[in-house]
Amino acid sequence: MSEDNQCKPYQCPNCGSRISHIHIFVVEENRYELELDEKGWVNWYGEESVEASEKSADAECPECGKKIGDHWSETWEDLNSWALKILNSILVKKDE
Ligand SMILES: [Zn+2]
Repeated sequence: MSEDNQCKPYQCPNCGSRISHIHIFVVEENRYELELDEKGWVNWYGEESVEASEKSADAECPECGKKIGDHWSETWEDLNSWALKILNSILVKKDE
């Protein structure tokens, strides 16, 4: 029916590819519990994301791998609103 069904919704500002999603790489602080075992090896366990720690994020195009934007925040809510802005800014406008 519609010829738009095959169109991907976003367009990379760097390479111009039509893409269906973006990649976000998030670096955040994690806490581990460490102890020595009987052989003297370090045991790492109990990985836990630290609440309200700084998170830095890069948005990249899955086609060319170039950066579309970056951001840092202490909350996932803020990262989510940044990601929403990125997606809206590269959304392909429907033809009038
Ligand atoms: Zn690209």
